[in-house]
Amino acid sequence: MMSDRRKNLLSYLIIILLVSIFGLASCSKARKKEEAEKMSELQKLPDIKIRLAKYSPTEIGCDETLLNEEEKKVLEKLVLASMFMDNIFWKQASTQGLAIKEKLEKSTVPEDKDYLHFLKINFGPFDRQDENRPFLGTSLKPLGAGFYPADLTKEEFTNFISQHPETKEEFESPYTVIKRKNGQLVAIPYNQEYREDLEPAARYLREAAELSSNPSLKKYLLQRASDLLSNNYYQSDCLWIDVKDSLVEIVIGPFEVYEDSLNGLKASYESFVYINDFEEMKKIKGYLLYLDEMQENLPVESKYKGQKVRGLESPLNVVFEVFTAGDTKAGIQTSAFVLPNDEKVREEKGTKKVFLKNMMEAKFNKSLIPISRRVLLAEDVAFVTFEAYFNEVILHEICHALGTDYITLADGSRTTVNKALRDLHSPLEEAKADVLGLYSVPLLVEKGWIPAEKEKEVYTTYLAGMFRSLRFGAREAHGLATLLQFNFLREKNAFLYEPQSEKFKVNFPTIKEAVKELAQVLLTLQGKGSYEEAAQFIIRYGQLDELTQKTIEKLGDIPVDIEPLFRQLGSDF
Ligand code: ZN
Repeated sequence: MMSDRRKNLLSYLIIILLVSIFGLASCSKARKKEEAEKMSELQKLPDIKIRLAKYSPTEIGCDETLLNEEEKKVLEKLVLASMFMDNIFWKQASTQGLAIKEKLEKSTVPEDKDYLHFLKINFGPFDRQDENRPFLGTSLKPLGAGFYPADLTKEEFTNFISQHPETKEEFESPYTVIKRKNGQLVAIPYNQEYREDLEPAARYLREAAELSSNPSLKKYLLQRASDLLSNNYYQSDCLWIDVKDSLVEIVIGPFEVYEDSLNGLKASYESFVYINDFEEMKKIKGYLLYLDEMQENLPVESKYKGQKVRGLESPLNVVFEVFTAGDTKAGIQTSAFVLPNDEKVREEKGTKKVFLKNMMEAKFNKSLIPISRRVLLAEDVAFVTFEAYFNEVILHEICHALGTDYITLADGSRTTVNKALRDLHSPLEEAKADVLGLYSVPLLVEKGWIPAEKEKEVYTTYLAGMFRSLRFGAREAHGLATLLQFNFLREKNAFLYEPQSEKFKVNFPTIKEAVKELAQVLLTLQGKGSYEEAAQFIIRYGQLDELTQKTIEKLGDIPVDIEPLFRQLGSDF
């Protein structure tokens, strides 16, 4: 039996225990409440689930059986190096992104998971698909993202440079951030500002170089590692062009300047880790054999054809994307890129154009297939194939080389199509590349390069793909280029609309002739170089009619893009 004293002691202890448990509980309750309040200070747009649904989570990765042990080890180091590009881009995209991410990661409010998820997709609290409208908080995204003081205007920036001309170079460098120090603007080099992320990234690149037995890759990786730390990328940019016969490759560093909407000067960090698809590249080289015949076959007088086929601006590389980080991973995913951007490197060494084939296929499956189910007759959906889509993209690139570059104007002066057509050049050039690709299909079938039974796939996939492109709007060159083609070909009855089913279909008896006519129109507009005539064509065919508008609206709930999940490589998604 327990003595009373002991009983008392026990109840005393139990009371203390209960009080402390209760105390702890109420304490942590208070803390949670405090956190929730802090988060609720950030105004949240309520439609987060709809915004998230615009991105379809999709696993992206490579077939590791393609790689030997050495290549696997190299790849792993390249992925580790790349992860630091994410860190840097968070800082570049906005000043508050990382702090909000940290808060959301600690939050116990269930709905905050969605906000965190969307924050990661956008690398910040601004929706990249909704003109950077804030979905968390109310402050607008500064035009200069995280590259400049948030309150800096373009005027202040240019005024400062004209008052201090000695600062021009460092202020306009793609590789500095601008800050205020003691009331004065200063430029801080990237290698200083982002040192904590660049040092480990460089270390992993060196480790990858040590593991690799490919001399050209080794050389590039070592140089890239030291360039990341010196802030001068010229040498390694050149060495990237020279990387040969390596299955595994990486592009890493500051490249595109789109994130800087204030001045379009500052480069964002990003990375692509990929595996070369040498088989597919061999196939593309086969296409190039027909380039001269394709030029000869163009349906216009020889003065509008151009003298001789220009060389392709850059070699076409087809790769499997294994991992990406930074700028390229934010919002819409890249399916092809041309690098480097440095003009000096471009002149001396040229560029590489890289197609990320598995990324294109993921987009095709998650976006183009659902779109075709919505807009095409049911029996035609099966003819929308990735093979045809990929072929179309490659032909588009090749066909930029066809037609004419230099022209003689009505007054006898020589100039380029680009200079003559100015702002109208891009949409017409993009439309030309699409249409000449399609126009060359019968020739390539005749040559046995494209099997005849695939022809139906080519035209049906082309029609479905138009709606994917139109969804992104007619304001940029590719969207407008698509609209021009769609309206012209509809007028020529190459596409038919069935009001009963509210679906479109290709009219096979007329499409080839209509494509030929459109090729004639576009090549002639370029060959004449008349700005007036080009403007008239764009006004006539560049309008979105009600039916097309309504059809595009019906696609609202289909994902606009994918969200890449690099799960097997330890990404935090
Ligand atoms: Zn193009």
